[in-house]
Amino acid sequence: MVVAGAGMAGVQTAVALREKGFTGAITLIGAEPHQPYDRPPLSKAVLLGTAEGSAFDVDFETLGVELRLGCEVLGVRTPDRVLDTETGPVPYDVLVLATGAEPLRLPGTEGVPGVHLLRTLDDAERLRPVLARRHDIVVVGAGWIGAEFTTAAREAGCAVTVVEVAERPLAGALPAEVAAPMAAWYADSGAVLRTGTRVERVEPGAVVLDDGTRVPAGAVVVGIGARPATSWLTGSDIALGAHGEVLADDRLRTSAPDVYAVGDCASFPSGRYGERLLVHHWDNALQGPRTVAADILGETTARYDPVPYFWSEQFGRFVQYAGHHPGADTLLWRGDPAGPAWSVCWLREGRLAALLAVGRPRDLAQGRRLIEAGTPLDASLLADPARPLKAATA
Ligand SMILES: Cc1cc2nc3c(=O)[nH]c(=O)nc-3n(C[C@H](O)[C@H](O)[C@H](O)COP(=O)(O)OP(=O)(O)OC[C@H]3O[C@@H](n4cnc5c(N)ncnc54)[C@H](O)[C@@H]3O)c2cc1C
Repeated sequence: MVVAGAGMAGVQTAVALREKGFTGAITLIGAEPHQPYDRPPLSKAVLLGTAEGSAFDVDFETLGVELRLGCEVLGVRTPDRVLDTETGPVPYDVLVLATGAEPLRLPGTEGVPGVHLLRTLDDAERLRPVLARRHDIVVVGAGWIGAEFTTAAREAGCAVTVVEVAERPLAGALPAEVAAPMAAWYADSGAVLRTGTRVERVEPGAVVLDDGTRVPAGAVVVGIGARPATSWLTGSDIALGAHGEVLADDRLRTSAPDVYAVGDCASFPSGRYGERLLVHHWDNALQGPRTVAADILGETTARYDPVPYFWSEQFGRFVQYAGHHPGADTLLWRGDPAGPAWSVCWLREGRLAALLAVGRPRDLAQGRRLIEAGTPLDASLLADPARPLKAATA
């Protein structure tokens, strides 16, 4: 058994295989030199220096997993069942692709000093002194990473300007009316949010915007999205989708025999939502490996059809989302979005399709179960924030 990629999905695949009783050899190959680690703390405690690192609490030796770190996988020859790596060929019986995603770069800024990404432990370690020295920072992109980085940078006392090309934060993830109240969070934190604005170029010590404004910048942090890290599969017979993601089936099998794909690098057909989903969130990298391990071990009932879930910690708020809302026909608010705690429910044909909870973890927990069960709900009861979600059944 060979796993390519030693992030959350790769590590969890090895763990799930052992938990399910697999006794054969497992080799876990990762490009980064560090002991495998968790990414969410990178934009939170690790960035602020309140946590040293975020290595997984997994004893690979005891687990009988051979770790090959600092070793990039370069290609795969599926007819021969061989993975080509920097240190030579590695034969496999079963291969799991778990190479995750890589951040998009701002065109023209590659190698420009002072321009940072935030994906890896090395990135976070480079950014830590930037925060500690309280540089003026320009953040490009008001998505999840941009919001979390801005939160940490404001906490550290940096002056922060966030430049977002769309008219609102999280434009790719949430509809305008839901994202609108979140724009105020930036201003409340003391950051300047400039929407509908594009970065023209980065100069030493400044960022020039498309309206000619020069914003002083001791550092620039780019958070404009990520794409599956699958360029190494080009030329193989493993089918990739429009975003470069591995096209997996509902058991996370790829188009090649005995090759699986899991986590940020793969999309899967969602029976629940009737469309293919490409999910770049932690819970997907935790749940998917259990399906992969089950299928490898012949548990034929295993189908991957999760209710997607993620959380974000930003501007002193705990933001959680479960489900998938495109395709929903009704949007309902629970509570006042100007206040500290509120939720949004998306219904489809009287059933909960998705839920966003800000400071309302109980809504999230109950909503997730209602989505999973497909319970019919009464919209007028649901809109009452004083009533528990689970008491809004039709
Ligand atoms: C800063 C940050 C904060 C986040 N916070 C949250 C959060 O609060 N909530 C949430 O739900 N999600 C969060 N996420 C998303 C979550 O961390 C990811 O969805 C998760 O890490 C995906 O795991 P993965 O194993 O699929 O991919 P990755 O974590 O990207 O791991 C893939 C690994 O494969 C390696 N690799 C890539 N190519 C090769 C190759 N050719 N050869 C060998 N190895 C290779 C990479 O170096 C990497 O170590 C955050 C992500 C980041 C970057």
